[in-house]
Amino acid sequence: MSISLKSQVFAGNPIRSKTSKSTDPFSPTSAFQTLKVLLSGQPNFQEPSFPKFKVLLFRKGRPLAGSTGDLVKKWHLGWLSFGDFKDLLEGSEVKLSDDLLVYLGCKTEEIEEDSVVYWAIDVSEGASLVQKLGSKQLCFVELRTLMVATDWADDGPMGELAIAGHARTLLEWHNATRFCGACGEMLVSAEAGTRKQCIKDSCKKRIYPRVDPVVIMLVIDKENDRALLSRQSRFVPRMWSCLAGFLEPGESLEEAVRRETWEETGIKVGEVAYHSSQPWPVGPSSMPCQLMIGFFAYATSLEINVDKSELDDAKWHNREDVKKALTFAEYEKAQKTSANKIDQMCKGVARGQNVASDFNVESGELAPMFVPGPYAIAHYLISSWAHQVSINGNQTPNTGVDSRL
Ligand SMILES: [Zn+2]
Repeated sequence: MSISLKSQVFAGNPIRSKTSKSTDPFSPTSAFQTLKVLLSGQPNFQEPSFPKFKVLLFRKGRPLAGSTGDLVKKWHLGWLSFGDFKDLLEGSEVKLSDDLLVYLGCKTEEIEEDSVVYWAIDVSEGASLVQKLGSKQLCFVELRTLMVATDWADDGPMGELAIAGHARTLLEWHNATRFCGACGEMLVSAEAGTRKQCIKDSCKKRIYPRVDPVVIMLVIDKENDRALLSRQSRFVPRMWSCLAGFLEPGESLEEAVRRETWEETGIKVGEVAYHSSQPWPVGPSSMPCQLMIGFFAYATSLEINVDKSELDDAKWHNREDVKKALTFAEYEKAQKTSANKIDQMCKGVARGQNVASDFNVESGELAPMFVPGPYAIAHYLISSWAHQVSINGNQTPNTGVDSRL
């Protein structure tokens, strides 16, 4: 069994619009002008009928979420209308100003009146908001928990996850990027929070959100039909995955794949074939957006010499064992468990509990090993190799991601 997704998790953001003309009412520039007037408190100024504004709150890197459903629980982002958002912040610890809000994108329907512009804001200082929002059955949930709780066959939550990932990336970047690297002066938010700028007149350096490229590769022994899987000490028990590492300056992607594989396992790689990529906004806050760039890497030497400072272990696995490690029943169970936990958190039953993705689910029949779930590009690298079909003697990898989108 394999899963086909329209795009990798965290990609396929439904409100990431094409760059719009600055005169469009939903462009960052125009929307920001409207936002300023709305926040200025001018009497008699009504929120325009379109575009509507919706706001997503984050606290300590966690987006606001809610949950619906009786038997099957389904999370959703806790979008607030602009009016509700202003009312909520009234009298809270957060002093609202236009430069705190970050433009996320817009949804423009055929009927313009239905157009919505989406914003994100970090309200980490607003401790009193937690209780206020709790009474609306909304709470701040770790993005990783939402990721594990997402039904990957459902376009709605998949889209919301991509929006939340993009928003977290931008907000964490704003938090971590406060001063100019050239002159040391303050940076201020510019273009509705989509970039920053140095305030010093003689400098005015423009700073753009950062992306950290990471190569991730499934190393393949073609001759013996095996793949190399490895374990890191931070992995949960029984989990094995692909090798990965950061790109170094002045290095091509192919060189990074060969260098990392050699450094970590002593295996030499020849051919390197691109597979797909995935934005990864759930890494450390100092690196708010890693771009995982996935490859098949074909080994030219087979002896493994594990660098114990990097890895716990690395082993060759045959195709049948790898297929068994694609433990769909366990992924589904973890998904449902996380969705139920979010539901309980939102209803106030389990607030504050750590529900980080856990595969320590109690089950009688656990597979001896498993690979990361369908939310990770490693899953697609591994499953597309395990399920590749032989056509006229040629191996045709199935990317597992619909290439038309
Ligand atoms: Zn500067």
